[in-house]
Amino acid sequence: MPLAEHTTLRLGGPAGRFVIAHSEEALVAAVRDADAEASAAGERAPLVLGGGSNVLVSDDGVPGTTILVTTAGRELRDIDGAGAILTVEAGEDWDTVVEASVSSGWSGLECLSGIPGRAGAVPVQNVGAYGVEISELLIDVDLYDRRTATVRTRVPAAELGLGYRTSALKGRDAAVVLRIRLALTPGPLSGPIRYPELARALGVPVGAGAPITDVRAAVLELRRSKGMVLDPADHDTWSAGSFFTNPVLDAATADRVAASAADERMPRWPTDNGMVKLSAAWLISQSGFRRGHPGPGGRVGLSSRHSLALTNRGGGTTEDLLALAREVRDGVRARFGVTLTPEPVLVGCAL
Ligand SMILES: Cc1cc2nc3c(=O)[nH]c(=O)nc-3n(C[C@H](O)[C@H](O)[C@H](O)COP(=O)(O)OP(=O)(O)OC[C@H]3O[C@@H](n4cnc5c(N)ncnc54)[C@H](O)[C@@H]3O)c2cc1C
Repeated sequence: MPLAEHTTLRLGGPAGRFVIAHSEEALVAAVRDADAEASAAGERAPLVLGGGSNVLVSDDGVPGTTILVTTAGRELRDIDGAGAILTVEAGEDWDTVVEASVSSGWSGLECLSGIPGRAGAVPVQNVGAYGVEISELLIDVDLYDRRTATVRTRVPAAELGLGYRTSALKGRDAAVVLRIRLALTPGPLSGPIRYPELARALGVPVGAGAPITDVRAAVLELRRSKGMVLDPADHDTWSAGSFFTNPVLDAATADRVAASAADERMPRWPTDNGMVKLSAAWLISQSGFRRGHPGPGGRVGLSSRHSLALTNRGGGTTEDLLALAREVRDGVRARFGVTLTPEPVLVGCAL
């Protein structure tokens, strides 16, 4: 089974063994058995896969077992009209969950519309977009702890180490998320819109609310304009979304970057802990990489609509994509002295 068939980049070699887990019992048993076999054989931990939208898998593939999570089920519990708790099984398609909550009048998830993948991976990198992160809505998760081989229920979000595009679950093969619980608010208005581009699209001031159906439509339109909604016919969407995270630097380093940029329009956002977040897309474009910049043989390239998305133009390989990623990373480092970090989880390969 070529893993390229299960990743949005359409890259990745074969899986030694491929298991589809439709139920919690099958998922836990598959991971438990595969973990035990891998550890006895001294091999790398088996890969747990959702929608394959945040992984870059080596051309050599994964020699051991890969487990695809396809568990299904959603339950919404209304708490006397004051709010709701939405419980979602890990294998549910994320955007279907968002669409259903918006269309049934519950607010909270609308800014997270159009993100590919499955619900179980949402806490893994604390998914975020348009001013909202899942950490704001996540109550707790049930998980299978791979280190102790036990199921733990109601693990509070605060124990998951959720940060900017990261968590204690990411890239460590520590646990499998079985289901997530989210706190929703009665609609029809969204919470305050924080992202200026989205507020402009909605025609509201930053900090105001808007009808959740309008917010979802506006987010999807903005995302489509950047090639950030999956479309099999559109190579700009054959990506893992943003390939690099925005660098978060101390203020003195950010000032040094600003001085070398010599451009007062350089985007910079203060974070809660006194650091400064810069725009990876801006640094990339200011380092001479235009949208559409080709990688080896033109088989891969920067998206023609977003300089932060590395894309497979058809016929690319993981090595091609890594070569492009290294070129961009090294170019930004040479220009600004900032080393960009990849956002997807690299499986069997390294930058
Ligand atoms: C076009 C596009 C746009 C995107 N836009 C955004 C965006 O706006 N914001 C954002 O944050 N991300 C974005 N992403 C990245 C990606 O969609 C999210 O990170 C998504 O949550 C990944 O889900 P997945 O099921 O595809 O995970 P996968 O790619 O299958 O897996 C990612 C990692 O999570 C692990 N994993 C998967 N399922 C589980 C589970 N049940 N338990 C434990 N670990 C698990 C995997 O082992 C792997 O390490 C985008 C990607 C694409 C292709």
